[in-house]
Amino acid sequence: MINRYDCRQEAKNQIAKRRENAENTAFENRDIILRKHPELLEIERKIEANYKKTITALISGATEKEIEKIRDDHQIIVADRDKLLDLLKIEKSEYFPKYFCEKCEDTGVVGERDCECLTTLIRQLAYKQMCKEFPANKYHFEDFSLDYYPDQKEREKMEDVYNKTLDYAEKFSKTSPSLFFQGGTGLGKTHISLSIANKIAQKGFGVLYNSTQNFLTAVEKEHFGNDKDGDTLLSLIECDLLILDDLGTEFLTQFTTSVLYNIINTRYINSRPTIISSNLTPRELEERYGQQLFSRFAGCFDWLVFVGGDIRKQKKFNSK
Ligand SMILES: [Zn+2]
Repeated sequence: MINRYDCRQEAKNQIAKRRENAENTAFENRDIILRKHPELLEIERKIEANYKKTITALISGATEKEIEKIRDDHQIIVADRDKLLDLLKIEKSEYFPKYFCEKCEDTGVVGERDCECLTTLIRQLAYKQMCKEFPANKYHFEDFSLDYYPDQKEREKMEDVYNKTLDYAEKFSKTSPSLFFQGGTGLGKTHISLSIANKIAQKGFGVLYNSTQNFLTAVEKEHFGNDKDGDTLLSLIECDLLILDDLGTEFLTQFTTSVLYNIINTRYINSRPTIISSNLTPRELEERYGQQLFSRFAGCFDWLVFVGGDIRKQKKFNSK
């Protein structure tokens, strides 16, 4: 289901393209400037010649002293060029490549590590991949209407849920608490979940949303059989926010129960937030998942109870 290898390749391609664009633009600008200023061209030629000298010296096994001399010369010429650029009032940004990421100069690598720009892009692409299945980018808090709660007490409760979840999305961090959305079908759990996903994805956090069934099926397939390229389980454990929708409707086996426990427990130990939504009551959850898993649900999540009548039915009825 989630193929981070694809996202990584695509991200690397995009970063290489950024670099290419930055360098091509700089090359064109520079060409125009050098035509206007032959004295600058003269210095550039000196720099070029000195580069060649360095390479020849390294290949021919020159002494350290000789190489040092070439380096000193280089620094002097470069300083001359910078002085001339100042004098001619040429901005460095129009003369040198303007990289999207200054830290790695659009290589995606800093030292031996992935640059932050690469990891951010991988996350964004994984999110895009997810949005093909669930268009989270179409869900907004603003579209959640409290008009569907005619009962005042229910409306107040839902207003509270709305405010708390909006606040959660606005202040989201990698160590935000985990939330458990409990309540019947059609009360807006999915709408709120996807609105949170949308809001925090826009801030660059890595968020994964799907039904519990779909996630578990993907993990099962990758574990037992045909899909060896996917790494859904790792993505589920490592993403900044995991949203498991509709817990309780999935087909439970010993394997899926242990995967579920493993995901929830590992995320809890690493203080990574998870949002679960379920139609089941606490008693039903305990019966279905057993004491060990239920104690995680009860102890590690802030519970929000969704109340009211089925919004989907009401919308259908009103539009008739
Ligand atoms: Zn970078």
